[in-house]
Amino acid sequence: MAMPALKLGDSNSVEEARSLAHEALDQWFDQLVPLFENGKKPTITDLSDRFSDTRGELMGAVMKAMVKKAYHHHLHQEHADCPECARVFKRKRFDRKTLSTLHGEFTLDRPYFYCTVCKIGYHPLDDVLVISPERHQHDIQRKAVKSASRMPFLESAEEFSSLTGVEIGDHFQHNTLNAVGDIATLELVIPDQSEIERRIDEVAKSTESKPILVVGTDGAHMPTRPKAERKKKRGPGRWQEAKGFRLYLVGENGRTVQIASWHQIQDADAFRKDLAVIAGRIPQDRVRVALLADGAEYLWSAMTACFPTGRPILDFYHCAEHVHGVAKALFGEGELAAKQWAEAILSLLSFSEMDDVQSILRDIEPRTEEVREKIRKLSGYLENNRDRIHYETDREDGYPIGSGGIESSHKYVCHTRMKRSGAWWVEGIRQRHASDQVCCGQRDLRAGF
Ligand SMILES: [Zn+2]
Repeated sequence: MAMPALKLGDSNSVEEARSLAHEALDQWFDQLVPLFENGKKPTITDLSDRFSDTRGELMGAVMKAMVKKAYHHHLHQEHADCPECARVFKRKRFDRKTLSTLHGEFTLDRPYFYCTVCKIGYHPLDDVLVISPERHQHDIQRKAVKSASRMPFLESAEEFSSLTGVEIGDHFQHNTLNAVGDIATLELVIPDQSEIERRIDEVAKSTESKPILVVGTDGAHMPTRPKAERKKKRGPGRWQEAKGFRLYLVGENGRTVQIASWHQIQDADAFRKDLAVIAGRIPQDRVRVALLADGAEYLWSAMTACFPTGRPILDFYHCAEHVHGVAKALFGEGELAAKQWAEAILSLLSFSEMDDVQSILRDIEPRTEEVREKIRKLSGYLENNRDRIHYETDREDGYPIGSGGIESSHKYVCHTRMKRSGAWWVEGIRQRHASDQVCCGQRDLRAGF
């Protein structure tokens, strides 16, 4: 017994919906009036804050008015067919449901039917309106998934709420993302070959040489928690490694064009297979490939296998982090000497003066075993990555030296800071090394060890 929805095109129902919406607008407007009482002069921010706090009531009421009028029949339906056996049953009751959308909340009383043969209950209105069984509807779920895939659940839930005014919890983020994860596969998520070619064409138009394709990979530790069994306490959380990659093209003025982004908790083998899927869709002869990663060897071997012509570049910002870590151990956090020492080392690295760096590290006489160990680790890390450190030529050739979103936040460090004091430091260190005697300059570098 199909029941057509009364269309909003019906002039009567349009007018009724409009008057309901006007009523909501009047009520909403009334609560703004006190803002101006007694000569008060609210600022734009005051007004905007009030609008943010209250727009959900207004828009929720408008949406409800439209639904009430357009689905009048469904809201008052007395008989409905069973979706399984098509027998007709009489309405048993109304079930109230709160629907939360990006534009506010409202409640609907949905007719409920029960098939005594199939033993199933059903709300026909839910099918017509495609209502989610969750409180937060599909529009919210879609946006929430986007932010939950980029940052930790709690952080993204807070961020989402502050920007949209819709309160969602981190559990909701977690569950929604998992639900998507269950059906999303890499093959579905990444663009197909023709779409990738189209994006390359677009970037190629604005660049003289072949566009650069950045393949950035990382392994990030993410907190994961086992699924809770019914009525049992959830087990302890644990940290697992999520491996992922991000591919993008670098166009004119450093503009980036996204190709694919994929992060998953998986082992090195699965990671390699996933990377091979995307590599197979890229016409590698049409791009210059930059491979960017931190130290982990399994990432490098997967990347060079999938992109044999790629130029491996040790992610400068990861590298800088390691250097700053040692500087802190040597001089103490926040000390000017620590900053200067780190910048000196990074400047040498940016000019591929690896031997100079290693000799500085060798000459240090650390105060403690702990510091000695840190220096040993840094030295090994740099040695292992020697072939991937060539930042000066990378820059000359137009390759990025750091990957992804962290690049912009560090721009200040590498462009401004390094150019300003870095060049000077390199000169200083070179001169010190040129003379055989341990001059006062070198003693500066050793100070505090
Ligand atoms: Zn039935």
